[in-house]
This record gives sequence, structure tokens and C-alpha cells, in this order.
Amino acid sequence: MIVAIDGPAGAGKSSVSRQLADRLGFQFLDTGAMYRAVALAALERGLGDGDEGRIASMTNTLTLDFSGNRVLLDGRDVTGDIRTSRVSAAVYLAADNPAVRERMVKMQRQIAGTRDTVTEGRDQGTVAFPHAECKIFLTATPEERARRRHAELKSRGEEISLAEVLAQNAARDLRDSTRSVGRLVKAEEAVEVYTDGLTTEQVIDRLEEIVRESRKA
Ligand code: C5P
Repeated sequence: MIVAIDGPAGAGKSSVSRQLADRLGFQFLDTGAMYRAVALAALERGLGDGDEGRIASMTNTLTLDFSGNRVLLDGRDVTGDIRTSRVSAAVYLAADNPAVRERMVKMQRQIAGTRDTVTEGRDQGTVAFPHAECKIFLTATPEERARRRHAELKSRGEEISLAEVLAQNAARDLRDSTRSVGRLVKAEEAVEVYTDGLTTEQVIDRLEEIVRESRKA
């Protein structure tokens, strides 16, 4: 079974999706981490705007490993490095690149083909797994999303203001919802869940309920 969870940055998707996968005994796929790892690799090679072709061919040479809770890029643990605001600001170098997206979607289908999966991203219910048995669109107001992301960055020692995070999120939302391929859009049949004011536990309970209902259907 595939549970596809999409939604904007900072809706709390990653942590609840991971815990939902644990509860269900499914594997968890964090597709944002894939785009982040490719963006990090591009930054490390000094690639940027105008290097679309080079970033696409570089992607074909990378070895990405998402087993367990770690992200390995060419065998190196980059789990923490891909979460910095520097990488967040550059992730469009990977996410806006149609050739990179094609490779990532192929990889996502390969990984999900092996086991029951909770997959999380922007285009999981629309592009990667249009036939997913369960689709959820997880969101929250921009203020709530910025507060959460700000707290997360602070806890990792990054000096950034709430206003900056709000602006960064708004820029990413705009890019995510207007890119030519894999844009962030709610799948027609997805169940929408707003996470404002809910604890992580409450969100996971709600998602588990939605998964159980779609299993019965
Ligand atoms: O979810 P997370 O914030 O880690 O994702 C990082 C970025 O990767 C997003 O802002 C989005 O631009 C991109 N992304 C995407 N498609 C996905 C997952 C993430 O374009 N399926």
C-alpha cells in the first residue's frame, strides 16, 4: 500500500509522516531529502543558476542512499547538512530541473515498489504515485509553518529571524506551486488536514484514521 502525503514546507509533514510509517509498520520515504541532497551536491561543485544541464548530468553520477533515518550522498552522511537554510534556499536548483525530477520520481517508484510505504513530498499523490490507495494533503497557515521551521533551525543553532523564515517559506511556496513539472497541488481525491493547533500525536492519530478508512474502501 502507498500512503502519499503532500503539502507545503513546514506543515510538519516529515516528522508526522515518519511516525505514521512507524505505527503502520511501513517504510518511510522523505522525498524532500532527495532534492536537498542533489542541491547540496550542486552547491559543493559550485553549480548554480544557468547550470541546468550540468546539474542534470551530475545527478546521474550520484549515489543516494535513504536507508534507515540517514541520508548518504556518495557514501557520506549528509543528514544534517541537507537541512541548513543554505540548502533550503538552493533546493530549487534540483526541484525546478525536469531531468532531476524524472530521475527522483523513478527512484521513488523503485523504493516504494519493494514495500508498503508512507511517502512524503509535493508531488507524491499527483505525479509519483497517482494510483496511491491513500492520499493526504497536510498543511497549516503560513505563520504556523514559519514558527515551526524557525524553532527547528534555532534548535540546530542557526541564527535566523522568524521574519526571514516566513519570507523564505513564502519564496519556496511560490516556486513549489508554479514550477512547470511536479508542482505542489492538492490531488483531487486527497484528504486535506490542517495541523494548526494540533499536537504531533493528534495529527498522527488523524492520519492513521484516514489510512484505516481508505484501507476499508
Ligand atoms: O520537504 P522539504 O522542505 O524537505 O523539501 C525541500 C524542497 O524540495 C521543497 O521546498 C520542494 O521545493 C522540493 N520538493 C519537491 N518535490 C518533492 C519533495 C520536495 O519539489 N516531492
